[in-house]
Amino acid sequence: MPTPLEPPKIEENDLLARYPFLPQAKEWLNVLSIEENITLKMLIEDPFMEPARKRGRLRLIEMITHSKGVDMDSPFDIYTRSGQLMEAYSYLFAKLIICSAADEILVSRWAQAEAELAEKRLSVEGEKLEIIARTYLDKISHEKNELYRSKIWDGKGIRIFGLKRGVWKIGLVDFIELCPNISGSRWRLANHEIEQGWITLTDEENYCSDAQLSRLLREKIKVEIQRDVREQIEKLGEEQIPGLETYVKMVTETLGDFKKRELELSMVDQEDWPPCMHKAITELARGVNVNHTGRFFLASMASKLALPQKDAIAFFHNAPDFSESVTSYQIGQIYEMDYTPTSCEKMKLGSNCAVEFGDDSLCDKEWLKNPVQYVAVKQGWKGKKMDNKKEN
Ligand code: SF4
Repeated sequence: MPTPLEPPKIEENDLLARYPFLPQAKEWLNVLSIEENITLKMLIEDPFMEPARKRGRLRLIEMITHSKGVDMDSPFDIYTRSGQLMEAYSYLFAKLIICSAADEILVSRWAQAEAELAEKRLSVEGEKLEIIARTYLDKISHEKNELYRSKIWDGKGIRIFGLKRGVWKIGLVDFIELCPNISGSRWRLANHEIEQGWITLTDEENYCSDAQLSRLLREKIKVEIQRDVREQIEKLGEEQIPGLETYVKMVTETLGDFKKRELELSMVDQEDWPPCMHKAITELARGVNVNHTGRFFLASMASKLALPQKDAIAFFHNAPDFSESVTSYQIGQIYEMDYTPTSCEKMKLGSNCAVEFGDDSLCDKEWLKNPVQYVAVKQGWKGKKMDNKKEN
């Protein structure tokens, strides 16, 4: 994606503290550490830095448990130098732990949680949203609407932030590259106004243009954080940062508990499930953002197999954007409507099918049109084997 070569200069330190992953924050943090005499050792063990470590730990725990996302409001006064220092260093402290743990699932969840926090903040950033957007996007324009300037709230908790301030347009290339991992029809190209290479992010009643732009920026921010952390992990190699062992143990153990829960779930009799169902479950468990087709398929399949709703919800626990209330509601709806799971044809089109020709003889059958048939046939075969045994 054509990211601007020279990001715009950001003078406001409170902004850099709120978004410490910005490329412009690097220089500010270097100067800050020299002026305040903050060393790595000090960050890890000096009592003065405890507030930063405490918030850093919170960032990490919530990243794994995904309870309610990292609190958007910093506990520090972000307009003071010390508040900015603590907020920015809480991010750096958490990043150090992720780098030391060097676990790909942690990297992915950490980047996701930080990008989500950034999205929430950006959607209410107001005038400053533009300078951050210009850091990541080349082609962007804003048409102000002075009449509206209110915070919008969505009762269902789906989209709860955003300032209605006008309409954003972004370049078609940026839009196409940022959208594939975002589920929902809103993010399909066909549902947007396109004009001479520009896409309009329409200012909707419940999803304002600022919030939509922030959602797109979240994708870019996540990729950048992941790239940065992976680079650091590579630089570290086998080396360990002294003093971080307890923290690394804390996050890996918490993550381990979550993985164990997934494993228990996967012990449910699965041998009759189609490969595409295994694929969706595995990807979600790894924190991969499964697209809308895959998610609908998995929920409708769980309903057809009469799995308890709580088990269906548990499939999504590790999804990067998991929300207990939203998932429970959506799964409840799918169970109630008793939808037919997505056809094999649509699964293939949406890149949700798990096999190539020759991988699974049942999937190769021309008459196999829906993954539900896969289960039915497998169970039929089992039934026949049982009958044969009885006859023998
Ligand atoms: S062919 Fe159908 S049943 Fe088999 S993996 Fe693909 S979508 Fe699933």
